[in-house]
Amino acid sequence: MIKKSYDIVIVGGGPAGLNAAINSADKDVKVAVFEKDREIGIPVRCAEATSEEALKKYAFIDENSICTPYNKFEFVAPNKTSVEMDAESMRGFVLDRKIFEQSLARKAAQKGVEIFTRAHVLGIENDNHPLVKVLYNGEQLQVNCQLVIAADGIESRSALDFGIDTTLSLKDSEPCYQMTLVNMDIPGDTLQFLFSSEFAPGGYLWIFPKSNNMANVGLGLNGSLKKQASPRELLERFVEANFPQATMVNSTAGGVASAKNLNELVKDNFMVIGDAGRMTNGLTGGGISTALASGKFAGKKAREAILEGDTSVKKLKEFEKYWNKNIGKDYRRFYHLKEAMFKVKDEDFNNLAAKFENVPPEKVTVTKLFTTLLKRKPSLILDVTKVFAGL
Ligand SMILES: Cc1cc2nc3c(=O)[nH]c(=O)nc-3n(C[C@H](O)[C@H](O)[C@H](O)COP(=O)(O)OP(=O)(O)OC[C@H]3O[C@@H](n4cnc5c(N)ncnc54)[C@H](O)[C@@H]3O)c2cc1C
Repeated sequence: MIKKSYDIVIVGGGPAGLNAAINSADKDVKVAVFEKDREIGIPVRCAEATSEEALKKYAFIDENSICTPYNKFEFVAPNKTSVEMDAESMRGFVLDRKIFEQSLARKAAQKGVEIFTRAHVLGIENDNHPLVKVLYNGEQLQVNCQLVIAADGIESRSALDFGIDTTLSLKDSEPCYQMTLVNMDIPGDTLQFLFSSEFAPGGYLWIFPKSNNMANVGLGLNGSLKKQASPRELLERFVEANFPQATMVNSTAGGVASAKNLNELVKDNFMVIGDAGRMTNGLTGGGISTALASGKFAGKKAREAILEGDTSVKKLKEFEKYWNKNIGKDYRRFYHLKEAMFKVKDEDFNNLAAKFENVPPEKVTVTKLFTTLLKRKPSLILDVTKVFAGL
């Protein structure tokens, strides 16, 4: 049963919320996670790829959740010329996110975290201490706590309750559609990114293998462009034209925030993390690694704040400063690159692919690709080298 009070209430049981729970709870810090869906880890609205380094640094590698490891990227231009890149230094895994999140939940439970599914947070009042209103088993409950961590994803409303503006402009939101397809014949170690104004205007298509036979195939569009067709229609057309033999076993629609990280991540008794804090990579839409990273840093700081009896904005700012210094600044650079990429035309991608198609994969780097593509924008070259240095 949900108790009347906890030290920390976490809204949302995705990777950010669960990792914050793991890193904040112990016998002296009582933590509850409220998740509105009926089961942790579903529905999966994700292509499920993330880097090995991020998992090791911010969480752990759960072998059972790995569908396939990848260590190569392939970029496909609109005219289908492709460029292969050896991505050993950026290697990672395509996960089974349901299994992964459930293993995060088990770890949190082992640390004493109380996790409630079908627990929908309706709103939070913050008068000295937060009072969380939650709908659980058809009953509206009120739960007291010292600190709320909002990890309620792209649709977050919790931050608004604390006066943090999370409004997304159309140009910073990407409606996506994805199918999981079987009967594919694809390299199991390669993430493929395809650029095409016909199928993914202002965004890109992805083919992320779950094995040699199965893949997450999806696309994201820029929300500000006039729609010729819905993301679903565009993906159906793409799949029909390119994988007529494939069978769909799952499909999902979802949104990605390709926005700048929020400037303000804390208030008195409040922190916001993961997609709710707009911590996605504006360029790729990837957010698993930052959800885990922000969960880890926020969780540790929250625990410290509870033990010191100080959940003031001044104390919690330590998290905000740490985030901005270590990760937020690179993510602002990704955002600038995304804005520049928006102006790149099919012809530019075709020219770029022509330049690199015969370059051996081990000589292709993301820095070289971006500096060539954006050479008319010297102001961005520094951003490119800072975020991709050494990759
Ligand atoms: C189509 C698509 C493909 C993607 N592919 C990738 C990829 O390959 N790699 C990658 O790194 N990222 C990818 N992303 C982004 C990635 O899924 C997110 O960045 C990541 O899930 C963020 O984690 P989170 O914990 O912040 O939020 P979420 O995973 O969204 O979790 C938030 C949780 O909060 C719950 N919640 C919301 N409101 C309430 C409420 N009021 N009360 C209780 N619970 C609530 C939700 O039910 C949800 O479970 C993709 C996104 C989409 C849409």
